[in-house]
Amino acid sequence: MNQQKLEVMVPKFVSDFSCVGSDCTAHCCNTWAIEVDKQTYKALKKHGDIEIRQLASSTFKLTRQSEKNYATIKMSSDGDCPLLDENNLCNIHKKCGPKLLPHLCQDYPRTPRWFGKHVEISMAISCPEVVKKVLYDPEAMMISSATQYQHELSHGNIRGLTSASLPAYIEFIRDFCFSVALNPELDFEQQLFIIGLYLKQSDSYLHSLPNLSELADDFNTMICDGTLLQTFQSIPSAPAIKWHFFANQDIALVTHIYENRDIPLSSIKKFDDFIECQLMLMKCLNNVEKADDNTVIVANPQQEHHAFTDTLAAAQKAINEHLAEHPQLLINFLLYSIYNDQFMAHLGLRPIEYFKFFILDVLMLKSYLSGIAIQQKKLNKESVIKLFQSYFRRRQHYPGLLDVMSNIINEAEKQSEYIIFSLLKN
Ligand code: SF4
Repeated sequence: MNQQKLEVMVPKFVSDFSCVGSDCTAHCCNTWAIEVDKQTYKALKKHGDIEIRQLASSTFKLTRQSEKNYATIKMSSDGDCPLLDENNLCNIHKKCGPKLLPHLCQDYPRTPRWFGKHVEISMAISCPEVVKKVLYDPEAMMISSATQYQHELSHGNIRGLTSASLPAYIEFIRDFCFSVALNPELDFEQQLFIIGLYLKQSDSYLHSLPNLSELADDFNTMICDGTLLQTFQSIPSAPAIKWHFFANQDIALVTHIYENRDIPLSSIKKFDDFIECQLMLMKCLNNVEKADDNTVIVANPQQEHHAFTDTLAAAQKAINEHLAEHPQLLINFLLYSIYNDQFMAHLGLRPIEYFKFFILDVLMLKSYLSGIAIQQKKLNKESVIKLFQSYFRRRQHYPGLLDVMSNIINEAEKQSEYIIFSLLKN
């Protein structure tokens, strides 16, 4: 066991988190692939309670791939975990406590990550309780520091990059992004534009800290004198391009989960709040002729953009009203993403590559929010939480989506290398 004490960063949304168990609508383990480590497997197979022994025998499938991946749980035909009781409570948790749960179930939604010398504790936004805290608690992103033993953090399973592999520029660049995100003079789109432009212009000399610093000084001057805001204002809106980005990613997001799966479509849909949210927009686009349990409806990139553009415009008032009631919502989302994602440096991405994905995520979320706002006449907390949680659950379960996003961006950038910024314009 590693006895090293680590410096850890803990945002308030992490320290405030508690799982709501059977009251949760998200069924977080639905369709997961859950590995069981050897020690847990043996303990459950030999447990004093005969019901637990029987459950372990009937639901675990031996893989013996490694100490960590010694068995898997055989999910039922509709993707549910067979260990849940009729109230959606886990039988192992109920009878044996959390210590005998598979590590994934114990740790989710916690995601500790190295960031150089220290560890940053975060949580996956695919859990609705995390979304609720991040978006609706004005103090969610207040960060405090503490010390903890490594083994106390998700069984020592800490991702991210230690000092040995974290690029030297990341900390400086991230601090600049935080400062723009916290600038109260800028609205959300302006913040994204300025961060995106800084990341783009700094991309060719990431390894020169003096140049990065000089560029940050220039940007701060241009924020104060309004030059950057004028540049943003001069970017024309490009509704057809927006539609192209949206429609192509909508197809990928909706359909990938049904590929190569034995689970029937109707079962996946039953637990899939994302489809419920997505369908509201499809209704606005008049794409819904027949949507039964065995059908999914997707955007058609060949269609003209007008219905989509009109829907976004018509929903703006309801979205603005909700944002006026919760002015921290978008700032917190941006701060969370900059903190949590660490520019996806662990995947070898450069900051600008990561940030283009973020801008695309914002387009997708705003578009689906527009559909919800139109269909429900206004936005409420529950529907916003449902959308964010289910959207990011889809993202988390589909690592290949990054390639899809990358292809869409690369193809569009053949027209203009700055095309991504047009997605920020209304
Ligand atoms: S999704 Fe979050 S709140 Fe819901 S059961 Fe899982 S950890 Fe708990």
